[in-house]
Parts: sequence; structure tokens; C-alpha cells
Amino acid sequence: KAFEEIDLGDALKQNIKRCKFLKPTPIQRHAIPVTVAGRDLMACAQTGSGKTAAFCFPIIRGVLKRRFSPAGRGGRALACPLALILSPTRELSCQIYEEAKKFAHGTGVKLAVAYGGTPIAQQLRNLEKGVDILVATPGRLVDMIERERLSLRMIKYLTLDEADRMLDMGFEQQIRKIVEQMDMPPPGRRQTMLFSATFPNNIQRMAADFLSNYVFLAI
Ligand code: AMP
Repeated sequence: KAFEEIDLGDALKQNIKRCKFLKPTPIQRHAIPVTVAGRDLMACAQTGSGKTAAFCFPIIRGVLKRRFSPAGRGGRALACPLALILSPTRELSCQIYEEAKKFAHGTGVKLAVAYGGTPIAQQLRNLEKGVDILVATPGRLVDMIERERLSLRMIKYLTLDEADRMLDMGFEQQIRKIVEQMDMPPPGRRQTMLFSATFPNNIQRMAADFLSNYVFLAI
């Protein structure tokens, strides 16, 4: 399928043109129709495969449909994003954030990025401006939740990127703690997308625990 054949909405289609993406990569061709249809997904994808678009497109579409609220959805100092993208490292989080910003260009969708190893103050101030889509590493995210500056109760889209690397780095307990925060009311379906280069037992267990009725793609 070409991008034009997928129901992406005008804003995304314009931004795909601005990014000069002429045709979908293999993972995009198979994953985007699945994710944009709202299905949970577990996909095998390497860095550089174009997977960022596969999980960002449904998120941006969904945020635009729900219409975002002004700063402090959950109260002045409590950020309540609609979408969370978890990734193992600062470098990868920043890369996803920059790519997602291009896809969301001109839409008003608010993005923020949070990672450890740097002072938290500026990242907290960014949250206060309102955030629809948060890209984060697990440790820093847990820190923000514990400081009561971030709530995950509105999350409708969850992406775990490079899940095998996150588990290799020892983030499993933190990830489980994060996902538990999303299982609190109000209920409502959450779309979860898991990307990993390998599928050892611990990844399969996570998929079983976090995904429902999911599509599996190995390309
Ligand atoms: P990703 O694997 O999502 O990090 O993407 C790797 C690089 O490929 C990024 O610089 C993207 O901007 C670029 N890219 C992704 N999809 C396409 C596409 N369909 N056409 C051209 N470039 C792309």
C-alpha cells in the first residue's frame, strides 16, 4: 500500500510529504494499516526500519481526534499525556521525539521528552506546558510519577520501543510499575504497540501481559 491508500488524515499526509517519504518502508507497509486501525501490535523491527512512523501515525491521529486540552490537563502541575512512548536510552528517546515532531508539525499536538542523566527541572517545566505525547526512558518517567508531576491515567496509546534492550538494561520492574499506573480507572481501551529486535521468553511474557488480541509482524 502507498501512503495515499491508508486512512491517515490530511495533516499526517501533508507532513509525510514534507518529510519526503515517497513510499512506505516494508515495516510501514505492513504495520501502519494495523496500527491505524487501532489494533495492538508486536513487531520485529530494527533501528532504521522506519518503525517510528508505524507507532507515531496512529498516536497523532488519535490525539487529533480526541482534541487535546490546554496545559495541565490534570490540574496546573500535573501532566496527563494521552500517549506514552517508552524507549531505553536518551539518544533513542530524542531521536523518536524529533521524528514525531516532524509528523505532528502544524497540528498543535504537544510533545515532550524525558530522560535521565540530566537535571529534571527543565523537563518538569516542559510537562507543565501541557503534553499530549510523552517520549521517555523508564527511570526518569517513574521519578516524575513519584514526584506527582505526571499521571498516566489518561494514556490511550502506549509504545514500548526496543523492548528487548529495555529488558537487557534491567527496566522490567519499572516498566511493569508504569503499565500498572495505566490500569487504574477510568477504563477504556488502550492501544499498545511493542517493538523488539528479538523475542526471548521475557518479551513474550510482556506481550501476553500488556497486549490484547494483537497482530504479530516479523519482517
Ligand atoms: P526509524 O527506523 O523510524 O528511526 O527511521 C529511520 C530513518 O528513516 C529516519 O531518518 C526516517 O526519517 C527515515 N524514514 C522513515 N520512513 C521513511 C520513508 N517511508 N521514506 C523515506 N525515509 C524514511
